[in-house]
Amino acid sequence: MDTAPFIDSFRELNDSFLKLIDSLSALRGLSSLRVYGQGDAQLLGSALDVLMQNQDLERCSVYLLKDGKLVNEAGLDWVHMIGLQHGSKHEHVPAFASFEVGEGLVGLAAQTGVLQHSSNCEQDPRFERNCRGISPSAMAIGSLISLPIKASGEILGVLNVSHPHTGFFSDTHERSLVIFANFLGQMLVNNRLLNSMEHLVRERTRQLEQTLADAEALKRRYAELSVIDELTGLHNRRFFFPESRSALARSLRYRKGFCMLLLDIDHFKRINDVHGHRLGDEVLCRCAELFRQQIREVDVLARFGGEEFIIALPDTDLEGAKQLAERVRFAVKSANFEVEGHCIKTSISIGIACLLDHDQGDTQAILERLISEADQALYFGKHNGRNQVRAYSEIACFL
Ligand code: GH3
Ligand code: MG
Ligand code: MG
Repeated sequence: MDTAPFIDSFRELNDSFLKLIDSLSALRGLSSLRVYGQGDAQLLGSALDVLMQNQDLERCSVYLLKDGKLVNEAGLDWVHMIGLQHGSKHEHVPAFASFEVGEGLVGLAAQTGVLQHSSNCEQDPRFERNCRGISPSAMAIGSLISLPIKASGEILGVLNVSHPHTGFFSDTHERSLVIFANFLGQMLVNNRLLNSMEHLVRERTRQLEQTLADAEALKRRYAELSVIDELTGLHNRRFFFPESRSALARSLRYRKGFCMLLLDIDHFKRINDVHGHRLGDEVLCRCAELFRQQIREVDVLARFGGEEFIIALPDTDLEGAKQLAERVRFAVKSANFEVEGHCIKTSISIGIACLLDHDQGDTQAILERLISEADQALYFGKHNGRNQVRAYSEIACFL
């Protein structure tokens, strides 16, 4: 019995089986690539690496469609693959930088969406021979397959594989390359989607961080504004109460003195009447500035309302409070407020109230009492000629 045909068939079967194993290995290699989040070129470079390692090819490259042109994005050849094993880097194969759609086998694959197989490029009129400066040895191609890379029916580019031998590629090659190219197409789409999503997430995160920073700045500004008197730039009552209350609590705890000064500009209404409201405003600002200059950092100064101001003096006894009050009164009395060509003079009256030795407990109640006593002392001074400092403890017996 002649066994030769069986042996031939067996060889053929074995050959096909090995090719199938190769193509499955290429797909398995492709599916296990961890290259998402990079650019197209890196993804394609790694994919071609896998292809070259698992298929008997000489060269492969990928052209992507960009603005209607097929632009070379990645390429490898076997010589470089061997070089790789000796430690050199992968390099791009000299390749056409670009093809027009319809130009050469590459262009035809993109134009028709159908695999183009040339088993003998030399004789094939579809093969583009114009090397455009590339060395002819680099173009020594016997067989070439150009096949479209598609995803959801859309052509993204073309995968090119070649071998120096004519008639090298079989039907099995074609079939496995089609699967490989489809797989690659889906990977490209996924990668682009991931990249654009990452870009979007980065952009949204940046916008969110900016919005948060703006909101923080706005919050700080509002918080600042809400405790600052717009005209004089001093703190207002909203700031004064909690601030002076905690200063009072500290003084009570450490048994230190604590005094309250209430200041009111004398006959301020006249200033408005004579010079107008705008100049009146200016005088208020100048007085505020004088007060600010006289106090210590620990003192709590605020515009209490209209032409009234208040100062809480921690660690201060009656004598210390009187000295400060006199300094402030004198500074205002001696000032010549030059405003828009007018020289405006004024004075202030100040009432003082002090923490008593036996004071303790409810800081809110003590604070309210001190303000009320300072107010009574102030109006005592008003009724007794203005431009003076009065302490509640010294006038209480006259009330
Ligand atoms: P006294 O010596 O008794 O304190 O007399 P006075 O005129 O200062 O007191 P009065 O309470 O009669 O008048 C206060 C004036 O202060 C009336 C009000 O129009 C004025 N005033 C209050 N707030 C402002 C302000 O923000 N700007 C200006 N220009 N005037 C103000
Ligand atoms: Mg007043
Ligand atoms: Mg007044």
